[in-house]
Amino acid sequence: MKPKTRKSPKDSTGKSQRMPALFIGHGNPMNAIEDNEFTRRWQQVGKSLPKPKAILCVSAHWQTWGALVTAMESPRTIHDFGGFPPELYQVQYPAQGSSWLAGEIRNSISASKVGFDLDRGLDHGCWSVLKRMFPAADLPVVQLSLDYTKSAVKHYAMGRELADLRDKGILIFGSGNMVHNLDRVEVSGDGHRDFNRPFGFDWAIEANDLFKKLIDEDRHQELADYRSMGDAAQLAVPSPEHFLPLLYVLALKQKGEKIAYFNDKLLAGSLAMTSFTIG
Ligand code: ZN
Repeated sequence: MKPKTRKSPKDSTGKSQRMPALFIGHGNPMNAIEDNEFTRRWQQVGKSLPKPKAILCVSAHWQTWGALVTAMESPRTIHDFGGFPPELYQVQYPAQGSSWLAGEIRNSISASKVGFDLDRGLDHGCWSVLKRMFPAADLPVVQLSLDYTKSAVKHYAMGRELADLRDKGILIFGSGNMVHNLDRVEVSGDGHRDFNRPFGFDWAIEANDLFKKLIDEDRHQELADYRSMGDAAQLAVPSPEHFLPLLYVLALKQKGEKIAYFNDKLLAGSLAMTSFTIG
């Protein structure tokens, strides 16, 4: 489980045409509409990327029995959360789907059968980020679900099989949080959970640092085996869904490609917004 070497297609000037890949710590759904340091960075990253042909998102918020990929013409904007202000429920992200890309994904993955989903849509892990990165919603977007019958190693293997799509102009982004423990979010004296408070518990800082070290050293196998990584990692990843998108993105990394971190901060004690681009 080390990055492979695959030649990147070049344009007429010799520049690589391989699309970068992204892992985004999405945090609070309000990031879809709030102006803060994280969302400003998403906007900057969106502007700095080459224009993709289409976008594939692997989000923490779509877990299924067996892998599915959205294959409808116009995926709905799903407001899959509760207790937020009305303006968040009015947000729409009217991107088109892409049956071509859905077919490419199904054909690329041999580690699992991938079914077509025709009625779900895009969840907030996907659209809250895209709304800021690509506000025009003029690029086709497809989502791949997280099959909860699969091990972390199998998810990594599925990510590997998607690597060729980067050379076909597809921007692949995983949306989760590498430290995500809602049960441990700091509660103030009045019982209020302040998700914007900038601090991390010691174990959260330790886990965030450890994950980055393993990412930097291409130690993907150890990351896929996060359950054996000790107490800090156990607390950081109490359930797999916000961590697995990270494995999909790491699996796309080719030998020698650089990792560039941004939004590397902890919030509310037990959430990491840590994000990065590959390539
Ligand atoms: Zn989430």
